[in-house]
Amino acid sequence: MKAAVIKEYGKISLEEVKKPGLPVGNVMVKVRYASICGSDQHIFKGEFHPRTTLPLIPGHEFAGVIEAVGKDVKNLFPGEKVTVDPIIWCGKCAACKVGHYPACTSLKLVGIDLDGGFAEYVSVPAHMIFKVPGHVSDEFAALIEILSIGFHASSRAGLEKHDDVLIIGCGKVGQSILHAAKTITNGKIIMADILNERLAIASSAFPDIITINTRTIDPIVKIKELTNGKGVDVAFEAVGHEVTVEGRFNPIRTCINAIKGGGKVCVLGLSDHPSEILFKELIWKEARILTSRVSHGEFAKVIEALDEGTLNPESMITGVLNLEDAQKGFELLEREPAKNLKILIKV
Ligand SMILES: [Zn+2]
Ligand SMILES: [Zn+2]
Repeated sequence: MKAAVIKEYGKISLEEVKKPGLPVGNVMVKVRYASICGSDQHIFKGEFHPRTTLPLIPGHEFAGVIEAVGKDVKNLFPGEKVTVDPIIWCGKCAACKVGHYPACTSLKLVGIDLDGGFAEYVSVPAHMIFKVPGHVSDEFAALIEILSIGFHASSRAGLEKHDDVLIIGCGKVGQSILHAAKTITNGKIIMADILNERLAIASSAFPDIITINTRTIDPIVKIKELTNGKGVDVAFEAVGHEVTVEGRFNPIRTCINAIKGGGKVCVLGLSDHPSEILFKELIWKEARILTSRVSHGEFAKVIEALDEGTLNPESMITGVLNLEDAQKGFELLEREPAKNLKILIKV
């Protein structure tokens, strides 16, 4: 079969590789679309090494149709539209024993720790398969994984119906939190970023949200103004790399300063550098800081929302490329982050 393979960091090329087998209990998915994730960009550049080993077929966000089912697989049939929850937890560690799977100490993902969806076929155990209604587009089906990240973060933060929300970082994760938050709260949603193009992507999906370019507007002052001095109920940090804006706090400290007394800060950005925060600012508010990683069963919620038409992630897709052009996709995301958010790979 054909697959896009990273054989050395910084290079991904179309190769002819062996089609995976179909052991008992597995399902063979014929991939239609895979999506390039922020983690894939880290992998591509070698930043997940030595967790990742080469050669690797990346892709943990993908969808397609069932080509065949292995022995003992029930209720799944060839031709059905499906997506794959890429998470593999160990089931043995302390976190797994209490069902807190995203905290598994040896968590693995299809497409990161083993070959993934930038390929014609992927074979996975049946329990990782989620059916997608036929009327949901193949492109949207490939976004279910990233959207589930936003739904999980909202659930970790205990987002409620009337909460005012701040999301710092309008990248893939920030946009997915926005989509999730829109299904939960009718309060104010404020998106902050330094790139106007990314703020525009958020506004085009939901024109009623408030956007702040933190280069030109002080987010703390603006948020106080927007919330009558109260601050937001929940602030999400989804930046994940070093961003220094003259005269502003770093993203996590901005979140701390933007929340109300007793508010919550949920951190998702995977930065390799420490973020300076002043705990006094958190303590004065007796606020909570928490984190969110991957997802935990939120695929079902996302599929339900797509089925009902309450989610429209169209604006997240900024490009579609063929499998042989995967290299170009990675380069575009690196070179022009303002213009490119989600690039789908058509397999
Ligand atoms: Zn991802
Ligand atoms: Zn575990």
